[in-house]
Amino acid sequence: MTKIAFFDTKPYDKTFFDQLSDEKEMHIHYFETKLNENTASLANGYDVVCAFVNDRLTENVIDTLYEGGVRLIAMRCAGYNNIDFKSAFNKIHIVRVPAYSPYAVAEHAMALLLSVVRQTHHSYVRTREFNFSLNGLDGFDLYSKTVGVVGTGKIGKVFINICKGFGMNVLAYDPYPDSNLEGVEYCSFEQLCRRSDIISLHCPLSPETEHIINKESIAQMKDGVVLINTSRGGLVDSQALLEGVKSRKIGSAALDVYEEEGEVFYEDKSAILFDDDTLRLLIAMPNVLVTSHQAFLTREALYNIAQTTITSIREFSEGKVMAHEICYQCAQCRKEPGKRCF
Ligand code: NAD
Repeated sequence: MTKIAFFDTKPYDKTFFDQLSDEKEMHIHYFETKLNENTASLANGYDVVCAFVNDRLTENVIDTLYEGGVRLIAMRCAGYNNIDFKSAFNKIHIVRVPAYSPYAVAEHAMALLLSVVRQTHHSYVRTREFNFSLNGLDGFDLYSKTVGVVGTGKIGKVFINICKGFGMNVLAYDPYPDSNLEGVEYCSFEQLCRRSDIISLHCPLSPETEHIINKESIAQMKDGVVLINTSRGGLVDSQALLEGVKSRKIGSAALDVYEEEGEVFYEDKSAILFDDDTLRLLIAMPNVLVTSHQAFLTREALYNIAQTTITSIREFSEGKVMAHEICYQCAQCRKEPGKRCF
C-alpha cells in the first residue's frame, strides 16, 4: 500500500483523485494546508508527497521529507519553479504533469484578453445593478492587431491558433523556436515588446525569465499595450507593472498569476485586512483584471492531472521508469534510456 500525503487539497482535487485512485493500492491523506517548512513533518511516514504550484519545496522541506521517509514528490502541475531540484537529487524522485490541457490555459488567456479589451467585467457589474449605460465601455477589435507570444510551447501554440482564428498577426519570442509553426514571425524579445499591441506570456519561470516584464521592457512597449499573464507571477515585476498602468503606458492587464500569490491565491481573504499594497492597487485599477490562478481549472484538466499523477505514483511503487520524472540535469539529460534519473 503506497501512502500519499496530499497537500493544499481543494474539493475539486479530492473529487478526481478519489474517483481515479484504487484504495486497495494507495492510501491518500488529504491535508488542506500548503507544504512548507512548518508543515513538512506532517508527511512523516508517507512514501509520496503530492504538491501543487504554491507549495514550497525548499532544501529544508526536502530534507524533512526525506528524513520522514518520502521518496517521491508528485507535482500535480506543469510548472516546477517552486522546487529545489539539486537538494532532491539522489534522495527523492520528482514527477510532474507536463501536459494536462494546454487548451484550458490558452482558452483562459483568451477569455481574459476578451474581457479586458471589451470590458465585460465592468458590464457584468453594471447590468447587475440595472445600470445599462455604455459610457466608458468602448474597446477595440482584436482582428488585425498584433499579438506577441512569449514562449511557443504547448500552451503558447494553442493560444497562437486561437489568435489566428481571430485574424490577428502573431509575433513570437522563444529561445528554441519551432520551425514547423506556420503563420508566426519569430523575433527578439525587444522587437516583440516594440511591435505588439497585446503581449501574452507562456514561458516557464526560471532565472532567465524572472521579471522579464520589468521597467525597461515596459518602456519599450507600445502605448496602451495589453499584457496577459497566465504563466507564472514571477515573470512580471509587479511594481513596474503597477507604475506602467498608472502612467497609462499599459492600456490593460489581465493576470491569472501574481509573484506573491503563494499565501493569497486559493484562499478567502475577504474578511481580513489585505496588506499586499501592490496587489490591492492592481485589483483596484479599472483596467486590470485578476483571476486566482484558475487557468487550469477545467474538468478535462482536473481529470488528466489526477490520471497522470496516479499513473506516475503507480510506476514509482512498482519500481518502473517514471515517464514524467524530472531532475536538475534534464536540460542536458545524462540518463540512460529506460532508467530513472538516479
Ligand atoms: P512548455 O514547456 O510546453 O513550453 C514552454 C515554452 O517556453 C518552450 O517552448 C520553451 O522553449 C519556452 N521558453 C523557455 N525559456 C524561455 C524564455 N527565456 N523566453 C521565452 N520562452 C522561453 O510549457 P507549457 O505547457 O506551454 O506551459 C507554459 C507555462 O505555463 C508553464 O511553465 C507554467 O508556468 C504555466 N502554466 C500555468 C497554468 C495556470 O493555471 N495559470 C497552468 C499550466 C501551466
